[in-house]
Amino acid sequence: GVTMMDKKSETVRVVVRCRPLSSKEVENEKTMIVEIDDKIGEIAVNPPKEINEPPKRFTFDMVYPPNTKQDYLFETTGLPICQSVMDGYNGTIFAYGQTGTGKTHTMEGVWEVPELRGITPRSFSFMFEQIDGMRNVSFLIRASYLEIYNEEVRDLLSKDPSRKLDLKEVSLAAADLEKGVYVKDLTQHIVRSHKDCEQVMLAGKRNRSVSSIGFSCQFTESSLTQIGATLMNAESSRSHSVFTIVVESSKTDDRGESHVRVGKLNLVDLAGSEVSCPLSRPRPRPRPRPRPSRFRIPLYRQGKTGATGERLKEATKINLSLSALGNVISALVDAKTAHIPYRDSKLTRLLQDSLGGNTRTVMVANIGPADYNYDETLSTLRCIEEEEKD
Ligand code: ADP
Ligand code: MG
Repeated sequence: GVTMMDKKSETVRVVVRCRPLSSKEVENEKTMIVEIDDKIGEIAVNPPKEINEPPKRFTFDMVYPPNTKQDYLFETTGLPICQSVMDGYNGTIFAYGQTGTGKTHTMEGVWEVPELRGITPRSFSFMFEQIDGMRNVSFLIRASYLEIYNEEVRDLLSKDPSRKLDLKEVSLAAADLEKGVYVKDLTQHIVRSHKDCEQVMLAGKRNRSVSSIGFSCQFTESSLTQIGATLMNAESSRSHSVFTIVVESSKTDDRGESHVRVGKLNLVDLAGSEVSCPLSRPRPRPRPRPRPSRFRIPLYRQGKTGATGERLKEATKINLSLSALGNVISALVDAKTAHIPYRDSKLTRLLQDSLGGNTRTVMVANIGPADYNYDETLSTLRCIEEEEKD
């Protein structure tokens, strides 16, 4: 039979995706240090030669090697969650990782290129295909899009996106200890097609407080492994973005009684994790010979690199919310933990009704394959895996 533990951990899945070397990395002769065996779910990270140590090995439920196609990723991560949202449950899909590792590629991908579309556009299409195929069920679908920046919530669909919105709580049932959390005055658009969803999202993206700058992606014809990775989106990677679709359906049965179901899907592109360890479990073993990572984004550092007031504040807030999220996820995965610390950040409060309980969550942790990302890659893998094998 299924034990309590199985049930609980089944609702939260953490998987790892490694992006290919970018064309720039290839050009600069960066070495690929990540080896993935997706058959057994193993990742090996080769330490730099100077360190002279054996590869670090990690095991996960699912690992996605650099040549993973977007449709396969969607089918094995997003699709089951979209399906349960259609059935009236809440679900959340997160992209986590260092800036430049492919969070936005995983979530959004390249909108204009069908095979490169990410989890978000595929979720839109999947849901509306289901809806269009159903008889005797009527649907009301609403979309909202917000950003959490410096622990402040902003409505990306508002006429005034700079305005800070409040999180409010309502008691659900008197006997129910759980509270419903909502964002006061958040814009909701009624959407009738996947195209509507897409337009709402693209309109919202233009309002991101610190907007992202476009990339130059160079894909070769034979493979999609040549990419023009840059860190130019460092700006937008200081905020979390949350796109939410609420699916309300009403079905009238043979006796004329109607049955209403409400499910909610959250699509979350997290802030860059270069500042913190999300699932901050105590790690007894000190890291051997810590080396400064050359590519760590300077804004998170004090001193020489000039992380002054604002930058430091951003870093502190990102740390706070990613570790709050990590603590919530750890508590959900750990069947022994009764208390889930939702209240510690805006993000976890906001997603309270979609994390834990009768909900499904998948976190796609993204890593880069190159040698200069060694520290961050290890930090990501260590944070999301409980036991590291040597
Ligand atoms: P993040 O959102 O984590 O900062 P991006 O998604 O913007 O990272 O990815 C950085 C660059 O790498 C982009 O040019 C993106 O197109 C490219 N990229 C990321 N993951 C992949 C992948 N799996 N395949 C091809 N290109 C990718
Ligand atoms: Mg991004």
